[in-house]
This record gives sequence, C-alpha cells and structure tokens, in this order.
Amino acid sequence: MMKEVRALGVDVGSTTVKMVGVDAEGNLVWHFLEQADPRVEDQVERFLARARHETFEASQTSKVWNAPLVATGYGRKLVHWPEGHRPATRSVTEITCHAKGIYRELAHGGTLVDIGGQDSKVIGISPKGDVVDFTMNDKCAAGTGRFLENTAHRLRVPLEQMGQVALSASEEVAISSTCTVFAESEVISLIAHGVAVEAILRGLHRSLVKRVVAMIRTVGLVPPLMLSGGVVQNPAVPRMLEDETGERVIVPRYPQLMGAYGAALIALDLR
Ligand code: ADP
Repeated sequence: MMKEVRALGVDVGSTTVKMVGVDAEGNLVWHFLEQADPRVEDQVERFLARARHETFEASQTSKVWNAPLVATGYGRKLVHWPEGHRPATRSVTEITCHAKGIYRELAHGGTLVDIGGQDSKVIGISPKGDVVDFTMNDKCAAGTGRFLENTAHRLRVPLEQMGQVALSASEEVAISSTCTVFAESEVISLIAHGVAVEAILRGLHRSLVKRVVAMIRTVGLVPPLMLSGGVVQNPAVPRMLEDETGERVIVPRYPQLMGAYGAALIALDLR
C-alpha cells in the first residue's frame, strides 16, 4: 500500500512511544508503537528511520524527506532533532494534541478521558474542538494503567486478559485501598483468604474506574464521553465507565494513538 506521509507526530509517553504519519488530508496512514526506552533521543531516531523506510522509500512518491514533526507527551521536551534534519518542529502539550486527535477522529465535542500507563486526564472539548477545561493526574498511580499492572503478576493473569476475566466475574469484592501499593497488599491478603481471582479483578477495575469518575466530576461531564489511551483497550474499563456514569462511551479506532495523531495534525498545519 502506498503511504504518502506529509507530517509526523510523536507521543513520548511514560510507558509507550507512538509515532503517527498523516497524508495531505490528515488521514492516519502510518503508525508505530514501542515500549518507552529511557534513551528517548535514540528511540525517536529509530522511529524516524523506520517511518522513512516504510513510507517514503517504500512508495518512492517523495524525493525529499521533509515532513514536519511535532512532539507531545511526558517526554516531548527530551526530544532533540538531529541538526538540519527537520525543517519544522515543535513540542505541544498532550492536552492540545489529544483534543485535536479525537476531534478529527470523531468530529464532535464532549468529555475526553485519557487513561495512560502512568497518568490520566479529563479534557472538556467544545463543539468546535477547543479545549474548555481539563484536569490531569500524573502524581499517583491510582486511576492509571499502573494500578492494574501492579497486581497482574500477583493474580497471574496476563494484562491483556485482565478485563475479560473481570467481566466474567459473578461476584465483586470491594478493594478499600486507593493507593496502588496498599491495594497490592490487600490483593495478596484476599488471595490468601481464598477469594476468587475474578472477583478481585472486578473490584480492582471498579476502584480504577471510580478514581477516574472522581476526576471527571471535577471537570464536569458533557456527553458524549470519549476515551483514549492504552488502558481503554481493556474491555472492562469502557464497560464499567458506562455503569458508573450512566453515559454511553465512545472508543475511537486507535485509542492509544490519539495524542500522536493530534501532534501529526498540528505538524500538517505547520507546513
Ligand atoms: P502512556 O501514553 O502513558 O505511555 P499508553 O496510553 O500508551 O500510556 O497506555 C499504556 C498502558 O495501556 C499500558 O501500560 C497498559 O497498562 C495498558 N494497555 C495497553 N494495551 C492494553 C490491553 N490490550 N489491555 C489492557 N491494558 C492495555
């Protein structure tokens, strides 16, 4: 398939790094994702080499490698472009990029909830796509992917299956600790007392979702509720968010790529 990438966006998250390429119309035509490497500069260079190889060189449609690149995410300021390599680069906050990506993808406003590996955010988006309010939690693992990851190994359930297992539970046990470290101790104790893994997992998901709902309340929920971030790929998270808020939730095609997509769209505007 020919991929005419005209602009690139990179989202340097605390858990994963995502790069997206868009065509002249802003369609998402290429992407790549890897676990985050502490050597951000090297990792981004590898991503760029890959983008060049898989898009420009593969299609032979462009003689010059001159696509603008915008960086976002927790590590966006750590990215330094190779001298003379980029004609136009900028770093833009995750809030702006997520809003931009989701608005282009879904074409309406509402409340966006992004749940990443180590942070979560709630963004109010106007019908025209502007950010009207937001809140962010990057200080505490509760309400982030890390909360579930921390207990996955204790329960011996692979991360990708935790949601399904939680949804299959006929019972739910309440997890009283909000703190990730204490929740882990609580889980160990519950296992020792013979409580079913399914019921524990359902309780853990409930705890994560309640924490996120508390954040939503601080911004105020204007429907529809839209989701992004890797953690919403866990099927129990959207389902329980619907339960807890009473609102239908919308998950876009590539929830984990919305920040990088928004960055690529901003880069396209820079041309
Ligand atoms: P960040 O942008 O903060 O680096 P991401 O939005 O990429 O984080 O989300 C990464 C997290 O998403 C992982 O740490 C993991 O907890 C979770 N995740 C990703 N895919 C899945 C999946 N299929 N099932 C459950 N959790 C997932």
